[in-house]
Order: sequence, then C-alpha cells, then structure tokens
Amino acid sequence: MEQRFAELTVELVQGDIVDQPDLDAIVNAANAELRPGGGVAGAIHRAAGAGLAEEAVPLGPIAPGECVLTGGHALPNPHVLHCLGPVHGRDEPGDELLASCYRRALETADEHRLASIGFPAISTGVFGYPVREAAEVALRTIRDVAPDLRTVRLVRMVLHSRDDLAVHREVLGDLAA
Ligand code: ADP
Repeated sequence: MEQRFAELTVELVQGDIVDQPDLDAIVNAANAELRPGGGVAGAIHRAAGAGLAEEAVPLGPIAPGECVLTGGHALPNPHVLHCLGPVHGRDEPGDELLASCYRRALETADEHRLASIGFPAISTGVFGYPVREAAEVALRTIRDVAPDLRTVRLVRMVLHSRDDLAVHREVLGDLAA
C-alpha cells in the first residue's frame, strides 16, 4: 500500500528491516544504551557488525523520544537512526514520546539530506505498545511532518507480521480518507 502526503510517499510492506537495501537509512528500535539487544536492535546490530556498537554506544544513553544517527557499517544502508521508543505504561506521555521518535528521525534524515528512510513499528515489541495505537501515532506524525521535509521523499514502514501490516493499512486508509 502507498499513500502520498505532500511530496512524501508512505509505503507499507511486510518484511525485515535489515533487508531494505534501497533505503538511505533504517531506523533502529534502540535501547537507551544503543547496544545490541533483541528484536529489531538485535537484527540490525547482527547485520551491521561490531562497528555499529563501537560507534553507537559512546553516543548513549538516550532518553525516550530521542534519536541519533550513525553509519550503517556492514548494512547496505549508509545510515542508521537509533530511536528510543517509550515503554508502554511507563514512559509518559507515551504517545508524545512515540511521536517524537518519528518526528526526530524524519527531521534528522532531512538535515542530512537523505531521501528515503525505513521504520519498524517502534515500541510494539518488548516495549509493549498496542499495535493499533502505535500505528495511529506513527502514521499521523509522518503525515504531519511531511510538508516540512525538503529531501526525504520516501518513508517505508516495514512490518514484521502480516497482522501488523493489516492494522497499519487500516490506519493509513482512515488517515488518507
Ligand atoms: P521495542 O523495544 O521498541 O518494542 P522491538 O525490537 O522489540 O522494539 O520490536 C518492535 C517491532 O518490530 C515489533 O513489532 C517486532 O515484531 C518488530 N520486529 C522485530 N524484528 C524485526 C525485523 N527484523 N524487521 C522488522 N520488524 C521487526
């Protein structure tokens, strides 16, 4: 599924965030220390190699809603944007902190003149966010930031499961209506 907001194309796909070789940057659902971990962070650090943690860890710890940029190391993508999502029910206001991840990742990508960026569904794994609520925050924020972007032209949300893709389709359909 694809949707245009201003000059930005938003794509929804089912897949693996480390298998998006055409994108300038992929987003890591990071932990505060910017270390390898489980889920998305584990997959990204495994694919990027040890150099990623060597670069990223000295930039941490980061707070919920924050985002930092590193190189992609052995990934096909030149850059990784590490965002710390809120833990559902603990880091409040959760929706604002989650929106901040998406806004700051897009703004940082734009500052570095990147054209394309891929997001996983931040905070919907071990951080416990309900997928629908997270999808509403994510897609609304992407829509709202779109008119301000000068170089970012493609955002791809890479959903791990078919169910998560279906929920994001519904939410994007409602937003576009
Ligand atoms: P968080 O700690 O922010 O909740 P997780 O990494 O635990 O982050 O999970 C975030 C979402 O990413 C979950 O929906 C999970 O199913 C999904 N996910 C896990 N691995 C991958 C991957 N390799 N590519 C894309 N999405 C993934």
